[in-house]
Amino acid sequence: MATRRTFLQDTAAVGAGIMLAQAQSARAAEELGYTDKLTDADGKYAAAPLPFAYDALEPVIDARTVELHYNFHHKPAVAAANKAEDSLAKARDSNDFALVKFYEKELAFQLSSHILHTIYWTSISGTGGEPKGDLAKAIDRNFGSYAKFKAQLVAATIAVEASGWGVVGYHPATGKLMILQCENHQKLTAWGIQPILILDVFEHAYYLKYQNRRNEYVNQLFSLINWDNAAMRMQATLPGRRLT
Ligand code: MN
Repeated sequence: MATRRTFLQDTAAVGAGIMLAQAQSARAAEELGYTDKLTDADGKYAAAPLPFAYDALEPVIDARTVELHYNFHHKPAVAAANKAEDSLAKARDSNDFALVKFYEKELAFQLSSHILHTIYWTSISGTGGEPKGDLAKAIDRNFGSYAKFKAQLVAATIAVEASGWGVVGYHPATGKLMILQCENHQKLTAWGIQPILILDVFEHAYYLKYQNRRNEYVNQLFSLINWDNAAMRMQATLPGRRLT
């Protein structure tokens, strides 16, 4: 179990690694973007160790709460995300998609829980204060000031309906820093995913020709798909290719 001190040391080591890479080549440095460790060597979802000891957040968050939260909320979500993927693999193998809606929902809910918990642990591993550098500038540009940003973030987070999260996110396509609320973990997305192919199944997309036959419309769409565009979008998300 890493203590808060060793986490900070590890963070410093990452910084030193980036400097070394910059000395070696600019391209190598470009490829060292920040990524969360969400999977193990086999590609299965796995919870990284907490970046601090259970009692490191006292008195703000008590040790027992951290222990329960990590072991009985975050970790079971990881197991359930793996189960959903395994079940979808079985469905593909047997060509039996009777439960596809259930397992896609499970995947979105549980994987999003894993992603957001992983970010949450890092978000609360610091010492407070105020943002600096480019983040501070982005906050001033998008929200007017840190005080206004904080007021909105606090209000939005408190006002989340039922269970959920307060979220600060950067939206690459518009260059905007945003505050969002999240209900549950997902609402059927997985945080961080970059869409590369989209199929519209609102009725307005097909009703004149296909009426209630969404099945037929979706199958016919495959004669129109631009896979080169999808591949280009995927390439654009790879490390070292980011525009931001
Ligand atoms: Mn939680």
